[in-house]
This record gives sequence, structure tokens and C-alpha cells, in this order.
Amino acid sequence: MADVEEKETVIIGGGPGGYVAAIRASELGQKVTLIEKGTLGGVCLNVGCVPSKALINAGHRLVDANDASVFGIETKPATIDFTKTQDWKQHAVVDRMTSGVKMLLQKHKVEVIDQEAFLDNDSQLRTMAVGPKQFMDNGGGQTIKFKNLIIATGSRPIEIPGFKFEKRVVDSTGALNLPEVPKELVVIGGGYIGTELAGAYANLGAHVTILEGTPSILPNFEKDMVSVVLKQLKNKGVDVITNAMAKKSVQDDKSVTVTYEVDGKATDLKVDYCLVSVGRKPNTDNFGLEMTSVKMDDHGLVEVDNQGRTNVKNIFAIGDIVAGPALAHKAFFEGKTAAGAISGKNTANDWVGIPAVCFADPELATVGLNQAEAKDKGLDVKTAKFPFAGNARAVSLDQPEGFVRLVYTKDDGNLVGGQIVGPGASDLISELALAVNSGMNVEDIALTIHPHPTLSEPIAEAADIAMGFPTHI
Ligand code: FAD
Repeated sequence: MADVEEKETVIIGGGPGGYVAAIRASELGQKVTLIEKGTLGGVCLNVGCVPSKALINAGHRLVDANDASVFGIETKPATIDFTKTQDWKQHAVVDRMTSGVKMLLQKHKVEVIDQEAFLDNDSQLRTMAVGPKQFMDNGGGQTIKFKNLIIATGSRPIEIPGFKFEKRVVDSTGALNLPEVPKELVVIGGGYIGTELAGAYANLGAHVTILEGTPSILPNFEKDMVSVVLKQLKNKGVDVITNAMAKKSVQDDKSVTVTYEVDGKATDLKVDYCLVSVGRKPNTDNFGLEMTSVKMDDHGLVEVDNQGRTNVKNIFAIGDIVAGPALAHKAFFEGKTAAGAISGKNTANDWVGIPAVCFADPELATVGLNQAEAKDKGLDVKTAKFPFAGNARAVSLDQPEGFVRLVYTKDDGNLVGGQIVGPGASDLISELALAVNSGMNVEDIALTIHPHPTLSEPIAEAADIAMGFPTHI
């Protein structure tokens, strides 16, 4: 057997959770080893948040180029060379960001092992080379005894019966890497990933059909928010079919036929590609976690306390493998908390609300509680809503759709949540996140001068409404 190496703090997985935990643990004086079997940056940087936003941006550029006549600008129809788009996305965006992570880890003297980790027990793991090298002696890897372990192995897409991921049936990774813009694309699952990619490909020129099994797409957002997005999807020619159960797919070299049922009636759609985006499952079943005493719940998520500590004192878990929304910024935060806890700091995952964003057209963003959730918690709340149609900046951008809504307690105006659908929602939600997490009330917002003319003003306008003194409505 190979020699056993002793290491202080070991992290499995170099995604948003793992690499941020590594940097923070190093800043706090730990000697850190990060094991990553794929590419640093994890799902988010390589096949998630970042490349999806790059394609969404490319789609917007194409639409803007073709839709300028309202401003008196006439253009020839713009065309797209999608090979160049994909090249730009990979090299100018993804590679640039992932090499940035590599540099940061080097700067923080984090040892990076580019192999796969397998746990032996509560204090030991083995690493193994990925690819042909794994057939070398001992898999080309090493045995490591760790003092502390942070598990950040992330998640992977769920496959559904009848839709095996191959060739023309793709998961989100496949959809981000298509060699061409499909003429016809079916998206199964209208959650945030499906809706974002449906919008992106519609803007890039595809005819898109979304098949959603429940009565509405984007079930995590409120109906009046979703209806703003549905209107825009309709304008783009996207067909949204709800209560639709995807049954099977049959492919040949050039197309795939998708069969779905609504109210027991079957329909076939022959398309170029079918994206299945019905959810993700945690990576907790494929690297020997069962060899440890770490407890998991019925969904395969690791059970942790508010520092990310499992029932085994020296093992922590963060990111998509623990409860809560599967979002990169949650993984960042949990990574910092776990690194702090290992270093003896009094850190905790004690947020009041995690912002959530869907980069649809227009963007949707929420933080904290909506009205129904607040009522369920026994809070007596009111709401104040201001439309982007009343905002000079949104109108001058020709993007007047959507609104800002504040949810606050009736007695003292304490802000418990907010929702934004409209231009710039992904950036604007940070103001509400700060307010909700700092325990501010609507008066604090109303008394903060918001620059004019900006998309942030509807937040202050909604606060004015809450105070009983509306201005521009
Ligand atoms: P991951 O990013 O999944 O990283 C886990 C890493 O662990 C991987 O690199 C993997 O190779 C490595 N690993 C796993 N097992 C082992 C092992 N045994 N040994 C060594 N290495 C291992 N979130 C947002 O906040 N905003 C967005 O806009 C957004 N858009 C998204 C779009 C898409 C298409 C997808 C799929 C996801 C999106 N997400 C978004 C979600 C976000 O990507 C995840 O929440 C985030 O990446 C989770 O981070 P993580 O560190 O937990 O895991």
C-alpha cells in the first residue's frame, strides 16, 4: 500500500463552494488541499451560471441588433455565426474565469490535486487519476489522512425515463454546447434553467417549445411575476405547454421525436434537439460517503448544522449537497462559513433571505418572504408595488415591463421580503437583500436618495407607497 500522507484541511470539489472555502481557510491560516476531478470552477463556471449567461447575452445582442427600428435605427437582419459565439463563450468567458480561480488558489498557496477522491472512512480518503492514468499503480493517486474535510461535490442533472442523454437529447451541459442553433428545440421542464435556456435559444433564432408538467412554468416565483415573462416568451414565439407529461423520445441522426401527453392525449413533436431540465441530484452517492458515519436525509442531501458541520465533528458539507436552494452564491457563503468554523471562528449560515434570480426576459429576482410565505409564518404584512412603466430609465431603455414589490410588516414597516421582475432585476435585488438581512424598514429605503434616472428608483417609489406618500403613481 502507498504511503499515507497527513493533511490539515482537505476539500473535495473545486466549484463555488469548494474553491471559496479553500481561499478562506487559507486566509485563516489553514494548510489547504483541494481535490478536483474535473475543471476548477465546478458546474457554475464551466457548465452553469457563467456560460448560460454568456449565451443569454449573445441572444440579447442579436435581438437588439434586429429590433432597433423603434429607435429609428434600421439594420439589415443581423446573422449569427454560432461557432464563433461558442468559441467566445468558451475562451473569452469560461476559460478566463476558470484560469482566474486557478491563479487565486495558487496565490493562496492551496495545494490542488487534479484527481478524483474516494472516502475510506471518517478520517481517510484515496485519490485516483481520472482517465487512462487511473490504470497506473494505485490508480496514480495517493492515500490521505485528513484532520478536517469539507465536501463540496455539487450536483448533476436528473435523467427521466425515455430520455437518455445522448446525441439529440441533452442535459443543460449539452444544451450550452450545441454546435448549432437548433431550428426547433423542445425544453422539458420550465424551471429556472429550462426557462433561461429556452429564452436564450429563442433569441438566437430557434423555435422553442417548453413542456412543463405542472400548471405553470417557474413555480418558485409568484403568478404575477411569471405572467410578465410568459408575455415576453409569447412575443418571441415560444410555445409554453403546461400540464404536459413527456413520455418518450426516438432519435435518428438528424432529429428527435418527443412524445408528450396533456389530459391523456398524446402528441409528437419532431425537433432538432430536446433539452431535459427537470432538476438536479446531489453528488453524494459516488465517492464512498457511505464508508463514513456521515448522516444523509431521504433526498440524498448531507445533514449539517448552521456551520455546515455534519454529525462527524471534523467533516463539513456545503453547496448543492446540503439543503436549501442550489445556487452558487449560497455555496460561496457556506464555503466561507465552514472554513471559518474549522479555524475556530464563530461563523454561521444565519442569513435571513437568500436572493434567487432567473435570467429570463425580463429577469426575475426574489429575496426573503413573499406575502403568502409571510402570512404562513404568522406575520401581519402588507405589500407595495411600483411598475417599471412609471420609471424614466426603464421607458428610455424601451423595457417598461415588470415591477418592484416590497413585503413589510403592518405595524412597523419592517421589510421581510421583496420581488422584482423587470430590467436589471438581477442587480437590483441586492439592495433588497441588504435591507432584509439588516432588518431595515420601508422608511429606511424611502429616506435613502436613489439616483435619477435609474432602474433603482422603483424600489424607493415602492417604499414611498408603503409610507403612504406615493410620488410617480
Ligand atoms: P459544483 O459547482 O457542482 O462543483 C462540484 C465540483 O466537485 C465539480 O467541479 C466536480 O468535478 C467536483 N467533484 C465531484 N465529486 C468529486 C470527487 N469525488 N473528487 C473530486 N472532485 C469531485 N447558480 C446561481 O447562483 N446562479 C445562476 O445563474 C446559475 N445558473 C445555472 C445554470 C445552469 C445551466 C446550471 C446547471 C446551474 C446553475 N446554477 C446557478 C447553479 C450553480 O451552478 C450551483 O448551485 C453551484 O455550481 C454549486 O456549487 P458547488 O460548489 O456545490 O458544486
